[in-house]
Amino acid sequence: MECTYDVLIIGAGSAGLAAALTLGRCLRRVLLADGGPPRNEASPGVHGFLTRDGIRPAELLRLGHEQLRPYKTVEVQCLQIESIARQGRGFVATGHGTADDAPVMVTARRVLLATGVSDILPALPGFRELWGRGVLHCPYCHGWEVRGRPLAVYGQGRTVTGLALLVSRWSPDVIVVTDGPGHLTPNARRRLRREKIGIREEPVARLIGSAGQELRCIEFADGSQLERAALFLHAPQHQRSPLASNLGARFTNSGAVWVDKNAQTSVPGIYAAGDTTPGTQQALLAAAAGNQAAICLNENLTREECPR
Ligand SMILES: Cc1cc2nc3c(=O)[nH]c(=O)nc-3n(C[C@H](O)[C@H](O)[C@H](O)COP(=O)(O)OP(=O)(O)OC[C@H]3O[C@@H](n4cnc5c(N)ncnc54)[C@H](O)[C@@H]3O)c2cc1C
Repeated sequence: MECTYDVLIIGAGSAGLAAALTLGRCLRRVLLADGGPPRNEASPGVHGFLTRDGIRPAELLRLGHEQLRPYKTVEVQCLQIESIARQGRGFVATGHGTADDAPVMVTARRVLLATGVSDILPALPGFRELWGRGVLHCPYCHGWEVRGRPLAVYGQGRTVTGLALLVSRWSPDVIVVTDGPGHLTPNARRRLRREKIGIREEPVARLIGSAGQELRCIEFADGSQLERAALFLHAPQHQRSPLASNLGARFTNSGAVWVDKNAQTSVPGIYAAGDTTPGTQQALLAAAAGNQAAICLNENLTREECPR
């Protein structure tokens, strides 16, 4: 049975949109399944994206969709893909538009997972509410906006030490907040002290923010408060979608979907790009990875169509 699409792209963030653009330009029949908002939805701006520095996340994606319009072989559907199974030499995927819609079935020769990750925030009042504005995940994305201001870095052990030393390149006033025992080695404490980074090991009660979701202060369990303009943390992550895991794809030790140099996962015919895969997580890099995966996909399809 002939597949309806050459490539089903799952996820319409930077990686998925860039892949759709490149595959559209290759005249490929593409379905881009747009399952909802991107990871950075809560952020006021995407920083460090060449020609788009500071653009609102929704506006970046709107432009991405707009620029797909000339490519008539690319179809976009609001679709949450729930399962993928091999069918002949391709795949059949099922999903839903909204929960009330009838299930949709899609056949494609190849699948690109561009489904991203989710950040797991501490279960304390204020973290979720201030996420993306007063609570920040990455100084490369947001350090410049809070440069020179009083900052906190939340976490324990080696992770918090490394992040605090990094953040101290943006501000001379950085305090590590460990929310209980910091598990900091004597060497970590010495390195922090050398950079004049303070350490607060009391348990945290909550974060207090402004109406504009800026951080005002950190309140500790004893009621004392520490005024800070922003708090950085390396939040643990999980895959946004269980599709790769359900397919039996290989994962790296850090929980990313393993891919070879051609963006193919350990499941032949299933590709992956963007935050889902290992490496530095930035919107521009996700877009570049989507572009590269699209080229690899087109070359793989071409080889199948033009056998030796
Ligand atoms: C708060 C915050 C601020 C950030 N700020 C910056 C910044 O300033 N600059 C920068 O470069 N980077 C920034 N990042 C990182 C950036 O958001 C990511 O690197 C980028 O979004 C990765 O793109 P992606 O396409 O891989 O994933 P995403 O953008 O997360 O897109 C994945 C898409 O897949 C969809 N999806 C998931 N499962 C399914 C499914 N089953 N079916 C259909 N669709 C599905 C999701 O709904 C989502 O739309 C920020 C991240 C966060 C959390």
